[in-house]
Amino acid sequence: MDFKKYVADVPDFPEPGILFRDISPLMYNGKVYEAATNEIVEYAKNLDTEMIVGPEARGFIVGCPVAYKLGVGFAPARKKGKLPRETISVSYDLEYGQASLYMQKDAVQLGQRVLVVDDLMATGGTLAATIKLVEELGGIVVGTAFLIELTDLHGRDKIKDYDMFTLMKY
Ligand code: IMP
Repeated sequence: MDFKKYVADVPDFPEPGILFRDISPLMYNGKVYEAATNEIVEYAKNLDTEMIVGPEARGFIVGCPVAYKLGVGFAPARKKGKLPRETISVSYDLEYGQASLYMQKDAVQLGQRVLVVDDLMATGGTLAATIKLVEELGGIVVGTAFLIELTDLHGRDKIKDYDMFTLMKY
């Protein structure tokens, strides 16, 4: 399937000079959404995945159906102030400024085999931060999966030690 047909290219969003890859058309089409999900499910099966972790918010859209199909749990990595119980956090650099992600302390079990999932990898900063949270909780990151990888930004270099599956590359 030509998944790229279902990605909208939006120039100058959210800022001038940025070409935003919008996965909404893929999500709006049930058959394509299912096919994309199945690709990640097959990857996850080979890794004996026991848990999916995805960062807010599109990591939920991509990660939850994968977890459902595998019959494993899903744990969100969220922005500040969203999780009601005890959390751990990690701060990371954005192009301009900083961001933080949080996970609840009981989200991942010691030794659990975790697949980290998001819609898109750009610089890899969000991924590196999510991996850090999972490992701090005692999880083993067995792989990472994305619908889209922006290869020019060399995000892979940040996380060389981890296996990665990407459905589309730009
Ligand atoms: P990174 O941390 O630089 O790798 O940026 C990845 C994060 O930013 C992911 O959580 C994406 O959802 C979001 N993101 C960055 N650029 C885009 C884009 O072009 N389309 C959709 N999401 C994006």
